[in-house]
Amino acid sequence: MIAKPLRRALRVTGGFWAGLLACIALAVGVIDADSVLTGRRPSPLAVLFFASVLVVLVGAIARRLRFQKPSARAQRVSRWMAMSETFADLELALALIAAVYTSILATGGFESPLYPLLYALIAFSATFQARIAAVVTLGAALVLEFSLLLAAGADGLSAVIFHSVFLLGAAAVHGLFLRGLVAAYRKEHSLRLAEELRKQKESARDYRLISVALGADSRAKRSRTEEEEILRSGSIASISSSMYHSLSLLYQALDARSCVLLWIDPRADMLKLKEVVSDCDAVREESWVPLAGVVKAVVRDGKALLLPHCKPGQIAYYESGFEPGAFMGIPVMEGSHLRGVLCIERESPFSDKERELCESGAEEILRAIRSEQVFSSVERAKYEHERFYQASSMLCKALTLEQVQNTAFAAVSEIVGYDVAVISLYDRQTKKHSVSSVRAGDRAEEILNVTRLTNLEFKSNSGLVSMVVKNKHYLPTAGALRDRNTPVFDTKVRVEGESILVLPLLSADEALGTLTLLSMNKGQYRKDTREMLGVICNQVAVSMENALMYKRMETMATTDGLTNLTNHRSFQERFRDLVGRSERHGHQAAMLLFDVDHFKNVNDTYGHPVGDEVLRQVAKVLRDAVRKIDISARYGGEEFAVVLEATDLEGALGLADRIREDVGNLVLESDQGTFQITMSVGVSSFPADGADTATLIERADMSLYHAKESGRNKVVCYRDFDAHRRRKAS
Ligand code: GH3
Ligand code: MG
Ligand code: MG
Repeated sequence: MIAKPLRRALRVTGGFWAGLLACIALAVGVIDADSVLTGRRPSPLAVLFFASVLVVLVGAIARRLRFQKPSARAQRVSRWMAMSETFADLELALALIAAVYTSILATGGFESPLYPLLYALIAFSATFQARIAAVVTLGAALVLEFSLLLAAGADGLSAVIFHSVFLLGAAAVHGLFLRGLVAAYRKEHSLRLAEELRKQKESARDYRLISVALGADSRAKRSRTEEEEILRSGSIASISSSMYHSLSLLYQALDARSCVLLWIDPRADMLKLKEVVSDCDAVREESWVPLAGVVKAVVRDGKALLLPHCKPGQIAYYESGFEPGAFMGIPVMEGSHLRGVLCIERESPFSDKERELCESGAEEILRAIRSEQVFSSVERAKYEHERFYQASSMLCKALTLEQVQNTAFAAVSEIVGYDVAVISLYDRQTKKHSVSSVRAGDRAEEILNVTRLTNLEFKSNSGLVSMVVKNKHYLPTAGALRDRNTPVFDTKVRVEGESILVLPLLSADEALGTLTLLSMNKGQYRKDTREMLGVICNQVAVSMENALMYKRMETMATTDGLTNLTNHRSFQERFRDLVGRSERHGHQAAMLLFDVDHFKNVNDTYGHPVGDEVLRQVAKVLRDAVRKIDISARYGGEEFAVVLEATDLEGALGLADRIREDVGNLVLESDQGTFQITMSVGVSSFPADGADTATLIERADMSLYHAKESGRNKVVCYRDFDAHRRRKAS
């Protein structure tokens, strides 16, 4: 059996020797350049050499690409391991130079057209390889050049001088300029990296201190995943530093050869090598240790094990050939659960007193882990409470349905990411669902056609949204669609995506609707997230109910109960806004004032209730005649007002006359048979007849009065009335 240091040396330097051997063989003239040029068949030795160089080159490249720096501990225990990167660089340098020279020799030596390849290699190694590898590459190239000179005799002198100057020149240019540049970039990069690492470490450490002292608002906003990541890295750093500390203390106090903490992994029959304090060469480099030998005995019995002497192979974390001394294994117990084993090995046996010391060391380690666990769970709970508090205070401030829905989307995104979020409402009377609000991210279109959701209405069906309203429970339980054909909304909207969650919006045990979340990420909606979202959704539902009630109250305050038109107070407000808007945009507008002719007679003849019905019918004519942007209002009694936005006088007169005609055509019913009514209209125009609402109303009223005076059932505009008045006056 070869000794371990020798094995390591061979593993680290093997490739280097192969490359060096190839270069030496080239220097002593294995390949005869003439054989290729003159077309003679190359000797079997040359062919064998070609093949070997190829193998060395491929091996060197593969090893360099796959190279992984040995762990700090491996570097500490073995000089060879510490130098492994340098040797990997040297191996690649020699293999490359051997391959390039082999190609040059095979294609004519000094005359070879492949010489630029050599310059390129020198440039590459001067720029990118480690300094020592670059120097070796250049040195090897020069040596090989001179070996060519020896073979070629005095004829080759000028060529060798020419090539050498070129080689040195290429190396110098690249070494000086590009290397400097690359070094500057590398330095900048590593500085940035170091800074990033420092910040992260600092934030992990500070977080624990700061988060305890400050409230949610004073901290930078982080998502749940970010918070958990920071907590985790903070915890890991803190646990591993206290673990290392405890182990180092034991290592020194007991004058041990190795102090090892092995951790039990319930999923594997191996133990994780959590922490090692040892400068012993024989501790295995792998991070997993088989459950065997003395460690297995400790795990099986759950009791401390003290052995004055062990045989090779009995301690699983040592190399099999190593001859161990005394062993002490202490189980690390959490209640009745075995979490790990603390193992100590040294030459002389352990005493009972020392066992007690180790047992308190094991407890210390466990305490550190447990306090970090408690800390993390307290922080997590605190995080959740903060989010709930923030969400509910935001929701309390939201008054309109739109505000509530926007706040709901924002509050949910604080907890979990989504690519599409949809709020739908359910109408118990019509048994219909309607999409009320949609929030779509960048990847929304990969999931569904967002425009299809706009104003989407669908009947109760077997889709997820309907099911959730029916069962008042979130779906699907797995957080993803098992069957892609299951509709979410209705069959017309096809839904893709990796994760989906539909939550009921429950208020007083009634589902007002649903919140649907869709994501392209797998496993986005886990159980704990669903529970948090469930609570938020209940708050959303209550706020939505309040907003709907607020809306009903607002409607009551602004509309007339009999006709459902805008009431007088609200009309004045809307009229002022409309005039202001028209002024800003330079639009015209028109004010129409209607009064039913001889309405007192209707009341007197057919009774007040019939009069009311007449008013309702007139209101309907008005409502149907105007656009959404216009205002139709009950001005008072049997008087109505209409304001037309962005409409000139001609247009207004046309509409006024049409309304007058339509009202005149109404056939109204009463106990005494059917009857008809007429209506007079006064019209004023903005800005020609007035710049403010009061003037416009006054002048429309004057025109209406004139319409009444001049026979009723007609439309009179202020322009005509004014002209008539002037004519009369003159
Ligand atoms: P004209 O306008 O053509 O000069 O005659 P008129 O009979 O319509 O005159 P006036 O404006 O004086 O009459 C308005 C009547 O409308 C008086 C009032 O009893 C009636 N009225 C006002 N509000 C209501 C209501 O809400 N319901 C009913 N049924 N009648 C109302
Ligand atoms: Mg009147
Ligand atoms: Mg009237």
